[in-house]
Amino acid sequence: MPATVAHSRYCPMCGTPVKDGPAGGFVCPQCNHVQEPPGAHKARKEAARARAERVAAAAQQREEERQRVLEEARKVS
Ligand SMILES: [Zn+2]
Repeated sequence: MPATVAHSRYCPMCGTPVKDGPAGGFVCPQCNHVQEPPGAHKARKEAARARAERVAAAAQQREEERQRVLEEARKVS
């Protein structure tokens, strides 16, 4: 896929000629219809997945830390 999308497009809602933004999406100046750039949905899903992974990793780290503390407490007593 080319980096720049140069072809002219038309708003699917009102037919107004629109200019693609840098990422390939546009906002119609006439009716404010928003056309997301190709891959935006995929990128959002990817970001959500990465966020979920970070949260899971943090939870696991907390759990490991908790186990370590419990282990230390057992050693002391
Ligand atoms: Zn429109």
